[in-house]
Amino acid sequence: MALKGLDIFKLTPRTNCRDCGCFTCMAFSMKAAQNGIEINKCPHLPADALKVLSEAAEPPMKIITIGTGGCEHKLGGETVLYRHEKTFVSKPLYCVSVNAGNIDVKLDEIKKIDYDRIGERMYIEAINVEYTGNTDAYIGALRKALAAGRTLILDVKDSAAAALGLEIAKDSKPLLNAANETNYREMSELALKYGVTLGVSGENLDSLHDTITALETAGNKNLVIDIGATGAAGAVSVKEAFARAVRIRRGALKDGDRPFGYPSLINIAKIAPNNPEMQTALASLFTVKYGSIIIMDGINYAQALPLFGLRQNIYTDPQKPMKMEPGVYPLNKADENSICAATVDFALTYFLVSSELERSGVPVNLLISDAGGYSVLTAWAAGKFTSSSIANFIRENNIEAKIKNRNLLIPGRVAALKGELEENLPGWKIIVAPNDAVSIVKFMKELKI
Ligand code: SF4
Repeated sequence: MALKGLDIFKLTPRTNCRDCGCFTCMAFSMKAAQNGIEINKCPHLPADALKVLSEAAEPPMKIITIGTGGCEHKLGGETVLYRHEKTFVSKPLYCVSVNAGNIDVKLDEIKKIDYDRIGERMYIEAINVEYTGNTDAYIGALRKALAAGRTLILDVKDSAAAALGLEIAKDSKPLLNAANETNYREMSELALKYGVTLGVSGENLDSLHDTITALETAGNKNLVIDIGATGAAGAVSVKEAFARAVRIRRGALKDGDRPFGYPSLINIAKIAPNNPEMQTALASLFTVKYGSIIIMDGINYAQALPLFGLRQNIYTDPQKPMKMEPGVYPLNKADENSICAATVDFALTYFLVSSELERSGVPVNLLISDAGGYSVLTAWAAGKFTSSSIANFIRENNIEAKIKNRNLLIPGRVAALKGELEENLPGWKIIVAPNDAVSIVKFMKELKI
């Protein structure tokens, strides 16, 4: 909400009729300014005032959806410039650019990147299909990319090829990255006809702003801003791309510049062609500031591991701990005869402990109870990882009926729980594991039960 309570109050009828549920128009205005009530709850606002207030109440950066089904992704919706102010909400999509000449090789490479990290699937979410001048070849590449089951970006400035491509890919709701200051009317008609998001580029920030304003006036507000391309499909410099990214985001969030309130796309493959090291460095830069779609020539494991890790760290809510679902996690093909180990649901603790247990090769049933997403000592100090909570978890989940083994490992840092646990869990042998995960492998290999 860009308007303050008094600004809203000036537009209300000031009759204090209470039809909105508030005692006074002033109370309504103050509440609306804090997003506590919708503007349209006042049925007596004049149409022009309602329009002004509704526009002001829109988020500074729109949320744009591309793709469908399992390939649907939300972009934008950010409200802060810095992650520590609140949180970033829509992680950037990592995308690989393909064309008719290299699509088979690249599709094979794209499939290779697919792994889990702290409960999140890490894979290349989108494919940018680049038009290189031959419409038949482009359509052939597009059909192959469609079959790969990723969100598609149609990188094409030729209107005939764009129309053919959209006819084929329309059901997957691709992004049509096609508009510039000379062709935007034609491309917008296509995007509106097929109900897809339109990518817009420009020679400079002024022309970008003018083109977006013209598109909005024509009724198209389903846009993504291509910050790395000139209107003529060339690429800008790294310095210019970064300046555009920052100025556009700052304009939208700090200055209320509505035409810049859209997610951004950056095609690094065009800014640093055939330079995978530079592309990786730039991808990390635009992950932090402020790419919504980041397109590269390719992403191998050496590039993916730091990039996906960085993205996961930046695009998690710093106010919410990263948690695992409470439950029993069998490791190394553990069964009912395998030993149990208890630890907290803090994701980092889980992954450290589970990876070391897996490295030991010993089958273990890892018991994860709800400890508020805290680390072991913090959860213990907060009363969320105690002998009672562990015993309750075992009872509530009927562990004794599912697992015959009565040996339970507890973290060394809460060794003090051993005595109480033995009282709370009659028949169980409580074994104190090492303080640190790094000692788990040796400990497990030498463990005699
Ligand atoms: S309904 Fe409108 S006019 Fe009536 S009290 Fe609420 S804000 Fe004021």
